[in-house]
Amino acid sequence: MQGSGIIGPVHLINADLHSHSTVSDGTLAPAEVAARAAAGGVELWALTDHDEVAGIAEAREAARGLGMAFLAGVEISVSFAGETVHVLGLGIDADDETLRQGLAATRGGREERARAMAAGLAAAGIDGAYEGALRYVGNPELISRTHFARFLVERGVCGSMHEVFRRFLKEGLPGYVPHRWARLADAVRWIRGAGGIAVIAHPGRYDFTPTEEYALITEFIAHGGRGIEVMTGSHGEAERLRYADTALEFGLLASRGSDFHDPDESRTALGSLPDLQGRLTPVWQALATRIEGRTTRPAAMA
Ligand code: AMP
Ligand code: MN
Ligand code: MN
Ligand code: MN
Repeated sequence: MQGSGIIGPVHLINADLHSHSTVSDGTLAPAEVAARAAAGGVELWALTDHDEVAGIAEAREAARGLGMAFLAGVEISVSFAGETVHVLGLGIDADDETLRQGLAATRGGREERARAMAAGLAAAGIDGAYEGALRYVGNPELISRTHFARFLVERGVCGSMHEVFRRFLKEGLPGYVPHRWARLADAVRWIRGAGGIAVIAHPGRYDFTPTEEYALITEFIAHGGRGIEVMTGSHGEAERLRYADTALEFGLLASRGSDFHDPDESRTALGSLPDLQGRLTPVWQALATRIEGRTTRPAAMA
């Protein structure tokens, strides 16, 4: 393979291209996520915090020190057909000014939203949720539902994060406040403008009808989006197969990432997902010139 980055059988690279740090709603600092990725056998890693690239410099430095290849990333919150959709930007230039401004605008409304969420929870009998959530926040511009969920578990209102979302934080529930995120066209444009590849994150998680899902994928491609997550902590076996078929049907590159947030909360450990199916083209094959450092797979040295 040309350029920097990948030497050897491309499918077999242990790539984990979706993870979060304290810069968004993860609980470990970027360097700690890097160390955990390396310990989990990850050879090519991307940090993809929600709507923010402030952790990239630390992540890159840590990856370099660990001898682990790195891609700068981000996960952009998008509103599409009345739902929130997440679009990963992989191999981005994190210093790109248009991208940075777009991300700042996207995360801009989170503070107000959080206060409204706390008011909704207070009306349901749960006081102090704003202050409680804030204690878990690492980046004041990125207060998220995850931080409220941690607080409600701490308070003993719910036994798990999942239960908090099910009882309080989804549409129609006391702690849910609708929010207008970035437009799909803008998110893809910012990512492409910054030299990256746009990837639809965890497609199996959205409550779309088949028609809406078709619209998402075709519009995404029309805007220049090129990839879809197939292997993610959010997909069961049926979805892994289904979205592998989708990738082939639409000519999309396939991605793999754990969506790691926290050692105890995350269902999937960094680097632990199955390899992409051999019939797919991995997104990292198209990102060779954006990869920083080389993978250390010993078999690849031959
Ligand atoms: P926000 O961007 O504030 O709407 O928060 C979205 C985040 O909530 C996602 O990135 C996940 O980390 C988390 N999340 C969403 N649904 C669940 C769930 N059912 N269980 C645990 N975490 C969830
Ligand atoms: Mn998250
Ligand atoms: Mn997501
Ligand atoms: Mn994520």
